[in-house]
Amino acid sequence: MTDFDATRAQFDLPEGVIYLDGNSLGPLPRAATERVARAMTGEWGGMLITAWNKAGWMAQPEVLGDRIGRLIGAEPGHVVIGDTLSIKVYQALASALEMRPDRRVVLSDSGNFPSDLYMAEGLLGSLGPGYQLRCVAPEEVEAELTEEVAVLMLTEVDYRTGRLHDMAALTRKAQAMGALTVWDLAHSAGALPVDVAGAGADFAVGCTYKYLNAGPGAPAFIYVAPRHAEAARPALSGWLGHAAPFGFEPSYRPGSGIARMRVGTPPVLQMAALEAALDIWDGVDLADLRARSIALSEAFIARVEATCPQLTLASPRDPAARGSQVSFRFTEGYAAIQALIARGVIGDFRAPDIMRFGVTPLYLGMAEVEAAADIMAEIMDQQLWDDPAYHTRAAVT
Ligand SMILES: *Cc1c(COP(=O)(O)O)cnc(C)c1O
Repeated sequence: MTDFDATRAQFDLPEGVIYLDGNSLGPLPRAATERVARAMTGEWGGMLITAWNKAGWMAQPEVLGDRIGRLIGAEPGHVVIGDTLSIKVYQALASALEMRPDRRVVLSDSGNFPSDLYMAEGLLGSLGPGYQLRCVAPEEVEAELTEEVAVLMLTEVDYRTGRLHDMAALTRKAQAMGALTVWDLAHSAGALPVDVAGAGADFAVGCTYKYLNAGPGAPAFIYVAPRHAEAARPALSGWLGHAAPFGFEPSYRPGSGIARMRVGTPPVLQMAALEAALDIWDGVDLADLRARSIALSEAFIARVEATCPQLTLASPRDPAARGSQVSFRFTEGYAAIQALIARGVIGDFRAPDIMRFGVTPLYLGMAEVEAAADIMAEIMDQQLWDDPAYHTRAAVT
């Protein structure tokens, strides 16, 4: 059994705060402070450029990629980290599209995160006329999988509602129609068990600053199925994805397998934070994590629904159809979130009316979830959200 008191003790959370936003930015792992300081002073300061070899900086993208691979069910040697998630979406989609040269349609859904759709639009625009991004309602995806579709590009867990797609079933159907799949695991990695190999996913991408807790600006990851590893052509052909980066050849030759998905210099200091964050996952059984996530989510939903008739559940009621977040609709949702934050409960708001709460068993327990629901009840009951101070929107909501 996973010891969640032990995992919780490894995070540095401010006193008096109930943090329900780990789905957006995970908290600081205590060990990251020391690990980043070591990378700064011991490695960068002390070893200077020799640290690329001596401190293993150059190998880190693959080493850390494999540690993430365990959390998403990837075969060893097929995940690499680097860049931001938006870039990794572009990269995966570009490679996948090239593998279906006779098709022009990318199928996605309206629950996808806008940046994924924007990156697809940008890529399709560069590829020329005839390419089309078809965006349908999440429940229509399966029926819209036709033989026109080159790539099915989906985010497994909807960032607004937490709705969970059936990755294995949709992948099977897509492949039966001759399409490839690109799965975005931004709200899945570290949130629930994922099995990219078992599901037969072709490509998968995700970020490390949400449920994996590697800090603001931490790098993304990409998975390419072993059967495509030597066939996928990298559209972003940077020198560190070259077969011989220090051969300085005039022309690009892709590195072997997943190494070709590297682009340029990796973010060394952020990788140090990621390394410390991943240490916490070593003792975690994802089945235990899932069981606890469901128990906490169910308790939160029950308590909020019992005390806040003003709110409507926006997440699927069936826990098996949800990721690890709970959302409620409320017309004054933005102000209500500000009122919660003022009282030490940090959630966030997604337009137009979604109040979003991340459920992160590594550092959240039943007492906090219940206390958060009680504070919400007080805010609703006394209309505490109705304060001019809570209505001014900041740049980040
Ligand atoms: C968080 C998130 C992103 C953010 O992309 P960045 O490039 O890391 O800013 C993209 N896609 C999805 C599905 C996300 O949830």
